[in-house]
Amino acid sequence: MHEQDFEVDYLIMGAGACGMAFADSLVTNSKSTLAIVDRQHRPGGHWNSAYPFVRLHQPSAFYGVNSRALGSTLATRQG
Ligand SMILES: Cc1cc2nc3c(=O)[nH]c(=O)nc-3n(C[C@H](O)[C@H](O)[C@H](O)COP(=O)(O)OP(=O)(O)OC[C@H]3O[C@@H](n4cnc5c(N)ncnc54)[C@H](O)[C@@H]3O)c2cc1C
Repeated sequence: MHEQDFEVDYLIMGAGACGMAFADSLVTNSKSTLAIVDRQHRPGGHWNSAYPFVRLHQPSAFYGVNSRALGSTLATRQG
């Protein structure tokens, strides 16, 4: 495996809802650099293993972040 050193202002442990929302706030509101690491192979937190058969089972408005409000007439269709 090729190793490379790099420096960031914030190292976020966990690519679950909290880690990604925090990263979004940093990117939106500051010039900080960051890296997110997770023991799993993709973002999404424990939902990936607890609920692999659903993508979202709450109103989307609950999942908006600073840079992208969800709910009302807004929707993302990626992924
Ligand atoms: C059984 C259950 C049902 C739920 N149902 C709902 C629901 O219906 N609706 C709802 O809104 N919320 C629900 N929740 C709550 C919701 O899932 C959590 O509030 C949310 O996922 C928390 O996000 P998180 O980022 O804190 O944690 P997580 O989603 O658990 O993410 C944490 C991440 O950190 C990583 N991690 C942990 N330790 C390390 C480490 N040492 N090194 C590297 N990576 C690490 C994990 O792999 C994971 O990806 C439920 C929770 C549970 C447990």
